[in-house]
Amino acid sequence: MKIIDIETIVVAIPYQHDGAATGFGGTIWHDLSFLLIKVTTDEGLTGWGEAFGYNAIPATRTAMLDIVKPLAIGQAMSLKSIASSGRALHDVPEFMDRLKKPLHLFGRSGPVFYALSGLDIALWDLAAKYAGVSVGRLLIDHPRPTVPAYKSFMRLIEPSVVARATERAAMQGYQKLKLHEIAIDAVAAAREAAGPNVALMLDVNCAWPADEAIHQARLLQPFGLKWLEEPIWPPEDIEGIMRLRKSVEDVPLALGENVANASAFMPLLHAGVVDYYQPSITKAGGITEFIAVAEAAVQLGRAVAPHSPYFGPGLLATLQMASAYRCIDGIEIFGVELDATLFGGRGMPDGMGTITIPDGPGLGCDPDQDILARYGI
Ligand SMILES: [Mg+2]
Repeated sequence: MKIIDIETIVVAIPYQHDGAATGFGGTIWHDLSFLLIKVTTDEGLTGWGEAFGYNAIPATRTAMLDIVKPLAIGQAMSLKSIASSGRALHDVPEFMDRLKKPLHLFGRSGPVFYALSGLDIALWDLAAKYAGVSVGRLLIDHPRPTVPAYKSFMRLIEPSVVARATERAAMQGYQKLKLHEIAIDAVAAAREAAGPNVALMLDVNCAWPADEAIHQARLLQPFGLKWLEEPIWPPEDIEGIMRLRKSVEDVPLALGENVANASAFMPLLHAGVVDYYQPSITKAGGITEFIAVAEAAVQLGRAVAPHSPYFGPGLLATLQMASAYRCIDGIEIFGVELDATLFGGRGMPDGMGTITIPDGPGLGCDPDQDILARYGI
């Protein structure tokens, strides 16, 4: 099977959330944008991927079209269906290695690698479609049908807004909530509104140098966090993370959305530097590298909590990983309501905070063409 075209489609959908218009990366987001990758083959199959993302989309799109696509077009992927087992023999990891090696000097993270991640997801979608099964079923005989979800709020800042948002999320059935706050009073407001039985996580997006993080983690001890995420700036300060973990033992830690790729995860997994590892499938090498992280996590008995604030094929790909890997603790669902959804509501939580994992061929389902026509650029 040969790749004959790779298209990039930016989907920008207006959204609402519990607070004022906000965003990450120093800009206000009025739409939620994601970058879809569409791969067409000479056998007529279409694969869908998603590449990171948000403010970096213009750079990732250029990296895909100008750097990755010219190397991938015309390349053959080996696919063999084993009808009796519902499996397919394929060479997606080897195919991707043939692109990663010549491109490694342009970054093992960042837009070129994000583009490779999106392509990898689309190729796994193709491989599973070829076999007529979901990606999860391609990997194991009995993928799990459902997975718990947690709601991941945008930054809300005002404690009263945090309290209202927490109450609303609890009414929506979520048992686990993640805040993106920095201030202790906002965390206190969430804990009071949630009561003792809802799991609270706190993601401070690398807010503090290590010594300050140790101080803040002690202040956070009374709130019984399920985990404190990316407490330390810079995110590569692993010595600082290990020091924090020793100093404040009863605050579990999470990180990984800024770990570049599977190879970079390995020493962290082996050393057991945190309690939850958070590979981001659209950033860190797609499904191929996610599988490498998950396999190592299983071997070493580590918990995986994927970074997945996505609504496109990146979310579906993460759900397929959850169907195959029980080490995945739960799925992050971005706490915004979009004006339209790409998959007709599939892949989203029910009223109990549980997601039924789409199980159609490939990633589980394809994007709605009408929504792409309406919101795609
Ligand atoms: Mg995070």
